[in-house]
Amino acid sequence: MTPEVCPNCGAAVPPGAKACPACGSDEETGWSEEAYAGSLGLPDENFDYDDFVAREFHGQGRAARRAGKGRWIAAGLLVLILLWFLMR
Ligand SMILES: [Zn+2]
Repeated sequence: MTPEVCPNCGAAVPPGAKACPACGSDEETGWSEEAYAGSLGLPDENFDYDDFVAREFHGQGRAARRAGKGRWIAAGLLVLILLWFLMR
């Protein structure tokens, strides 16, 4: 089975190609079924950059807000732990 993207180097592989045009990986040396399955999480040729940016930006905004709140909680816990050690 020919992967859409070389699991070894990430280059686009033409449909039906017997080996990767970029690094020369083939069924014997490179793209085993496991390697192909491992690459499924990576962007493929249907990769929509604008959509990716929109999602990534949105996700980061949410994550940043969560991290901001988390930092205060972590700081508070740190102070409590410090006080606990000082009181002993
Ligand atoms: Zn390759």
